[in-house]
Amino acid sequence: MTQHIVVIGAGYSGLAAALRAARRLPDARITLINPRAYFVERVRLHQLAAGQRLRRYPLTDILGTAGIELVVGSVRTIDTERREVTVDSLDTPVPYDTLVYALGSVADTSTPGVAEHAATVAGPAEAQALRDKVATMARQEGTLTVVGGGLTGIETAAEVAETYPGLEVRLVTDTEPGAGLSERGRAHLRRVFDRLGVEVRTDAKVVEVHSDAVELADGNTMTTDLVVWATGFGVPDLAARSGITVDSAGRIVVDDTLRSVSHPDVYAVGDSAAAHHPDGSPLRMACATALPLGRYAGDVIAARAHGRSPRPLRFRYFFQCLSLGRDDGVIQFVDAHDRPRERVLTGRLAARVKEAVVRGATFTARRSGLYPSR
Ligand SMILES: Cc1cc2nc3c(=O)[nH]c(=O)nc-3n(C[C@H](O)[C@H](O)[C@H](O)COP(=O)(O)OP(=O)(O)OC[C@H]3O[C@@H](n4cnc5c(N)ncnc54)[C@H](O)[C@@H]3O)c2cc1C
Repeated sequence: MTQHIVVIGAGYSGLAAALRAARRLPDARITLINPRAYFVERVRLHQLAAGQRLRRYPLTDILGTAGIELVVGSVRTIDTERREVTVDSLDTPVPYDTLVYALGSVADTSTPGVAEHAATVAGPAEAQALRDKVATMARQEGTLTVVGGGLTGIETAAEVAETYPGLEVRLVTDTEPGAGLSERGRAHLRRVFDRLGVEVRTDAKVVEVHSDAVELADGNTMTTDLVVWATGFGVPDLAARSGITVDSAGRIVVDDTLRSVSHPDVYAVGDSAAAHHPDGSPLRMACATALPLGRYAGDVIAARAHGRSPRPLRFRYFFQCLSLGRDDGVIQFVDAHDRPRERVLTGRLAARVKEAVVRGATFTARRSGLYPSR
């Protein structure tokens, strides 16, 4: 009987998994379900927020002759007993033999006031809404407060400050920005923020967001015209709602082949998977993780379909890429577990490398059938 593989989510990991499985299992039926008919380069959403146009990649073009059926819609429920998913755009459920869960992540809006008053760059609709707000604000001048000193907050603050030099851009974080970078990487970051006029407030934990201010853990408040919340990502609750075993963050708990520990016919990839190194240490939510995981999942599903035992996931990181506007950046070399080495590239060269990596990621996602997984 023909196996029906249903992949939900056509981001970096889902697209890679679907294309890979199609390449390895030409006789399988594969369905890819995504809310949009095009692929979003999510790693560029801070650029969209700063007013740049992003290219759209129609999924029908990408799927081309791979023989993958595309359903445009959002998955609402997973019935793991019947092995079927319901989709908001379809009248009847879609049955599966194997499900690949690749829903990515969403903004973590659990802090009081964030959902009501803050903008985010976590998804395309949110980044577009932020773009409109920033453009309006830039005409009147004002203060934009980016909360979160991780890579997304840093990239967003730098991009907006470069595009709108008349805006006051402030980065508020409870640690030092770029805490995962080497000393040289952080020193470069400080120089760039100085050049762009970004005010950095460290040791400031935001505990509540109001319409015109952020409230800090020490009781102080900072007035602001707009808040961008970038303290980290959460995940959709679909897996938890469906009775699939998840970790405390809601990510699907998987074995060393990315298979759900509670439901062997479900695989999880990308940000929605609690994937880990062989020693159990977690992988980072990143495009750099999602793409290889997606390809690997396609290989694993094919291996099992052919009656073979897949090799366990082996994963290593090489670098972290950080854009600081269009003409500056940091490429931080890291060890296999993502810990920074001393070696960094900075400045224009780093900006070019980052651009090449982002383009390469999209190219690889679109052609994931062809490349070997790690
Ligand atoms: C502004 C920004 C900058 C970033 N920069 C970097 C970077 O420089 N380097 C890096 O490594 N990472 C970066 N990241 C993180 C990176 O984008 C994510 O880790 C990566 O996209 C995760 O891939 P994924 O396949 O898990 O999810 P995604 O790429 O988010 O794809 C998930 C897909 O699932 C779809 N989906 C969601 N819910 C449903 C549903 N119910 N039914 C069907 N489909 C659904 C979504 O619409 C989406 O198409 C950045 C993120 C942001 C927001």
